[in-house]
Amino acid sequence: MNEPLTGRLTRCECCPRKCRVNRLEGKVGFCGIRASVQVSYAGLHFGEEPPISGTRGSGTIFFAGCNLRCVFCQNYQISQEFQQSQTRTLTTDELASDMLRLQDAGAHNINFVSPSHVIFQVTDAIEVAQGKGLVVPVVYNSNGYDSVDALRQIRGLVDVYLPDIKYLDDELGKQLSAVDDYATIISGVLGEMLDQVGHLEVDDEGIAVRGLLVRHLVLPGCLDNSRRCLHLLADLSRDTFVSIMSQYSPQYKACAYPGIDRTLTEAEYDEIIEYALDLGLENAFVQGLESQDHYLPDFARQGPFDLA
Ligand code: SF4
Repeated sequence: MNEPLTGRLTRCECCPRKCRVNRLEGKVGFCGIRASVQVSYAGLHFGEEPPISGTRGSGTIFFAGCNLRCVFCQNYQISQEFQQSQTRTLTTDELASDMLRLQDAGAHNINFVSPSHVIFQVTDAIEVAQGKGLVVPVVYNSNGYDSVDALRQIRGLVDVYLPDIKYLDDELGKQLSAVDDYATIISGVLGEMLDQVGHLEVDDEGIAVRGLLVRHLVLPGCLDNSRRCLHLLADLSRDTFVSIMSQYSPQYKACAYPGIDRTLTEAEYDEIIEYALDLGLENAFVQGLESQDHYLPDFARQGPFDLA
């Protein structure tokens, strides 16, 4: 087993915020999390894309805290306004035990949700769990605001990368997620992830075993941002698997932001799907619109999916 990566939290640069606080001494940076991970939820989840949820569910471990502050966050009670009393503070061994418990429950994979600010704690736990018999794929399900340097340090420990691409417009990122440089960072992040795991691969049952699947949530009235995001993905590779999500609703503080204080229209979503196809991005998952079933890759023809 390698030397624990958690030792790198003495001057935290786990994510692009580079707060440089000593989390091992109890200091907190932007994400609000000390050295121990805080888990809000661990259980089987059936609402991810078909290759992730499959038939037995994805073994989801949802971390408290976040390195973004999205005004439309659907999980703000977990990411931004969590109560210590509603989370479990876990050691490396305890997190590894959760992973093994989910595998025993039949999970197709272990799916770490919002891991960017606990990347080293997570990867230390993966090594412990693998030493005790973890064999299912590990999914790194992040907002995309990751440190390329940190990702390089965990190479080989993640099987499936499931990042968002939120913005290719830094003004939008500042306004909606309190981040100055998302658009600058995301290209390198996706390139590193693709280099590590390649394009999405599935087994005979259509379950992801390895690779990159990128998510993009289409925001109402922000179609130019969506076009730019899809363009970047096509530039990365037209074979990139992308999940184009229509589920936006004005949660949390979004009603105070004119323009995103409504749901997405079908016409807006259709326009973005057409744009993706025009770019040659044919490995696209779409949500819930019967007329668009033909856009789904063969292994994904399991009907609409619903992301939590
Ligand atoms: S992980 Fe947290 S403390 Fe570390 S750089 Fe990112 S926001 Fe700051």
